[in-house]
Amino acid sequence: ASTAEKPPLRVLLCAPRGFCAGVVRAIDAVERALALYGPPVYVRHEIVHNKYVVEGLKAKGAIFVEELDEIPEATTAPVIFSAHGVAKSVPEDAARRNFYAIDATCPLVTKVHREATVHFKKGREVVLIGHAGHPEVIGTMGQLPEGAVTLVETAEQARHFTPRDPQNLAYTTQTTLSIDDTAEIVDILRARFPAMTAPHKEDICYATTNRQEAVKKVAPEVDAMIVVGAPNSSNSQRLREAAERAGCRIAVLVQRAGEIDWDMFGTISSLAVTAGASAPEILVEEIIDAFAERFDVRVETVHTVQEDVFFPLPRQLRPDAPGAA
Ligand code: SF4
Repeated sequence: ASTAEKPPLRVLLCAPRGFCAGVVRAIDAVERALALYGPPVYVRHEIVHNKYVVEGLKAKGAIFVEELDEIPEATTAPVIFSAHGVAKSVPEDAARRNFYAIDATCPLVTKVHREATVHFKKGREVVLIGHAGHPEVIGTMGQLPEGAVTLVETAEQARHFTPRDPQNLAYTTQTTLSIDDTAEIVDILRARFPAMTAPHKEDICYATTNRQEAVKKVAPEVDAMIVVGAPNSSNSQRLREAAERAGCRIAVLVQRAGEIDWDMFGTISSLAVTAGASAPEILVEEIIDAFAERFDVRVETVHTVQEDVFFPLPRQLRPDAPGAA
């Protein structure tokens, strides 16, 4: 169709969007390990929750496993832990198996692990606000002995949670939660247990916060919002919810352009696009190109904050590491 026949569509690109510093570091870690040691490089769990990224690394020689017992016992290949972090038992198990382990846990997740450990050492009961089953939650709970951490997922659970000792309580959170839902849960817990110790600095990370803020700003101005991201990506799911709550009548999470249900977008005149922290920019471009085939698109970027966070590679992979090429 010629441009004249296409309906006009204003596209607002949220900024910041997409890759965070923890994801960049984790992907770089796998690529650097492949370059240094050659394939295969084993990766426990999807290095970041994005199929496109995982497939790209697979093509370069990364082998993804869910558990260490899937890795051949005699291997000398590196074994990388994903950005989401792992329970303490995982590096211990890797050491028992004599694996060369490289930890790509995001430093902001490691911060939460440390907090939980400090609270435990000080004799505090730890409440973790998060989503059951997410690998980050499994990893954080797994820093401490079974039963030391109580997971609170909802405001309802916060209302009914009974601590061992209300005077000796601390909370930490998953890094990729909804800012608003978490604030509500924390308010309930604080009102019930005023002595509860809080994190020094928010556990919800800068990337989660900034991407949600950008969505909240843009969502009221558009008819629809597309979040580029995977269904198992917590921060991407939270972006979709944030758009819906901020008044977008259409708010959908898509991984690739091929998933777009075009019937939903028949009557829109404005669209916002953002991406979860594990979604590469090339997929954002793919989505915009797909809209450009059907609409006469005019793209504008809406900047909220500037990000300049950078995390150096895991020590063993830095260019100055002993034995590094
Ligand atoms: Fe780290 Fe936040 Fe990115 Fe997770 S979303 S990898 S915590 S920076």
